[in-house]
Amino acid sequence: MPLSAEAVREALRGVKDPELDRDLVSIGMLKDVAIADGAVTVNIELTTPACPLRETIEKDVRAAIVKLGAKQVAVTFTSNVLGRRPGPAQARIPGVRNIIAIASGKGGVGKSTVATNFALALARYGARVGVLDADVFGPSVPGMLGDATSPAVTASGQKIQPAVHYGMKVMSIGFFVERDGAVIWRGPMVHKLLTQFLEDVEWGELDYLVCDLPPGTGDVQISLSQLIPLAGAVMVTTPQDVAIADVVRGISMFKKTEVPIIGIVENMSGYACSACGHHDPIFAQGGGRKLAETYGVPFLGQIPIDTRIRIGGDVGRPIIVGAPDSEIAKTYMEIAARVAGRLSVANFAAPKRSPSLVTIR
Ligand code: ADP
Repeated sequence: MPLSAEAVREALRGVKDPELDRDLVSIGMLKDVAIADGAVTVNIELTTPACPLRETIEKDVRAAIVKLGAKQVAVTFTSNVLGRRPGPAQARIPGVRNIIAIASGKGGVGKSTVATNFALALARYGARVGVLDADVFGPSVPGMLGDATSPAVTASGQKIQPAVHYGMKVMSIGFFVERDGAVIWRGPMVHKLLTQFLEDVEWGELDYLVCDLPPGTGDVQISLSQLIPLAGAVMVTTPQDVAIADVVRGISMFKKTEVPIIGIVENMSGYACSACGHHDPIFAQGGGRKLAETYGVPFLGQIPIDTRIRIGGDVGRPIIVGAPDSEIAKTYMEIAARVAGRLSVANFAAPKRSPSLVTIR
């Protein structure tokens, strides 16, 4: 068969997105095919720029086109992130496609550190990302992300323009209260504040809104699950905390409120010496994985204790921007890709998927 756009399309019917388990043509991922002097260029639209299977798809596409006799093959990628089905709760923040909660059983396990680096990892892939610091009792996100533009009231006076840190839209009560000042909120106030943070902030179009929750199972968790459709929750734990009732309570709270648990991240998983690279499992290791197995949820990855992570948080330059080529930054990128991949699969499989959510960027 001569090399033609039709032949390329036909050949790519034999290439599947391994996670969605459907061929690229029937689900509309193959966008353009161009042929000039035996050189073929195809554009594939992924369901997330953080696609963990981009390389596999590229390899399979190339192989299929080379078989047709192409002299050269170029594969370009764009993305269009799938979102939740529209509904009354989604109407509160219509431009936000996926809201991801970052949770932990107790404080101090590195939840906010994971939330900020995870959000930055998604942004580094090219996704449009926001961060909502819902840890209203101990807001640490502004400090961890460093200096940025401050939130401001828009010209119309109706909306709040979020701060922008490293290209991400960020909102936190920490912008409005003294640093280290005690923040005391009662249940109804928490609900009102979160409602404002969701409805009155101009989030615009976002692929992912990362919510840093307070530790445990309290008013914020309940309010959020009532206010917005959470795409899922990532639980952060340390290796030695896995048997603690708090973590288990956290997991069962999400199950009860029908928020899918996307997976578990084990933080402070051993000590990585920044001088020599030696890895020492101070608190043992593998607890997060065991917990994931016990509850039948995915294990997303483990982050060691590393001085650069702590310093990055202290000076407002998280490791993913401070040391983007480090092993730890790579691990955060892998975790972000796993989460994005799982959300794509979940959104793809969701019944009555609305085409209105699938707009071209
Ligand atoms: P949480 O949100 O669970 O209360 P934080 O993210 O505020 O915890 O982290 C608590 C402290 O631990 C911070 O000083 C942070 O920089 C530090 N930290 C978190 N994760 C790591 C890590 N993997 N290695 C070194 N320090 C860490």
